[in-house]
Amino acid sequence: MRSCSGNLYMNKRAGKGEAYEPTCHEQLANTASHGIAIIPSLIALRWMIDASHRDLQHAISWVFGIFTTILFLTSTLYHGCEWMFRPKFSKLRYYLHIIDRAAIYFFIAASYTPWLMLRDCGPTGANLKWSIWLFAILGIVYQYNFHERYKSLETFLYVVIAAGPAFAIFTIQDRSGLPIMLAGGLVYMLGVVFFKMDGIIPFAHAIWHCHVLVGAFLQYVAVYTALLGPDKNNPFPDLSAPGVPIVS
Ligand SMILES: [Zn+2]
Repeated sequence: MRSCSGNLYMNKRAGKGEAYEPTCHEQLANTASHGIAIIPSLIALRWMIDASHRDLQHAISWVFGIFTTILFLTSTLYHGCEWMFRPKFSKLRYYLHIIDRAAIYFFIAASYTPWLMLRDCGPTGANLKWSIWLFAILGIVYQYNFHERYKSLETFLYVVIAAGPAFAIFTIQDRSGLPIMLAGGLVYMLGVVFFKMDGIIPFAHAIWHCHVLVGAFLQYVAVYTALLGPDKNNPFPDLSAPGVPIVS
């Protein structure tokens, strides 16, 4: 483990084309702030599965829960290795960083999936169901090839992929749960401000992580309270249609 020396709370802002180097304390905060969410996200996954009444709810709970857990896990692994090993194992840290960033794309797709699959969003939503995963894969391909090369473009891509589908969500007929879901989205967007503040305010990245924690919590609450359980008000697929299996 490297020794903590030099600045404790913040380093110099990175120059153009350079990566910000967090202080030892910042890296520890980055690791802890997502590490604390791994177990709770697994518990939330369990609760969502228990609250699922249909096969589709069950599958969606897995998708949403697993990709959220993976987000916190990969982030903790990446920041933990930065904290423990920097400047050694540069290749390992490089690939863990790409995996950390890739997990965000899948997390975004997984966060929209419950709403697009369990609510009727009309034709726009029908197309977004699969295209949001395609965008996630394209984002990951971009991330792999141009990792950290055009940082502002990278952030812009995240914001577009994260905020764009929200417009389709407005076409949902049944809007119960949407205010909490959108509040979660706004918390993420507010967090992006801090994502860009490394070297300007101390612990900026850990503050961004805290926004992700709160945003993810609100998404869980919205999905759990509005989309799971018996949902007679959202017959999508139509529960009364013949041949639709109902898991109880
Ligand atoms: Zn991070």
